[in-house]
Amino acid sequence: MAVPFRRTSTTKKNKRRTHFKLQVPGMVACSNCGEMKLSHRVCKACGTYKGKDVVSK
Ligand SMILES: [Zn+2]
Repeated sequence: MAVPFRRTSTTKKNKRRTHFKLQVPGMVACSNCGEMKLSHRVCKACGTYKGKDVVSK
């Protein structure tokens, strides 16, 4: 197995990890209930999309 020739510097490591985001991108607040949801998806919390109830309960 190949072994790294040099250890990764703290700067290099940190620069790589700038792409690690705390939250999933594309999250928006639901217009109906205010819950965070993925955009262009039905809200999991209240089951609405574009202000209409699309998930029957
Ligand atoms: Zn909602």
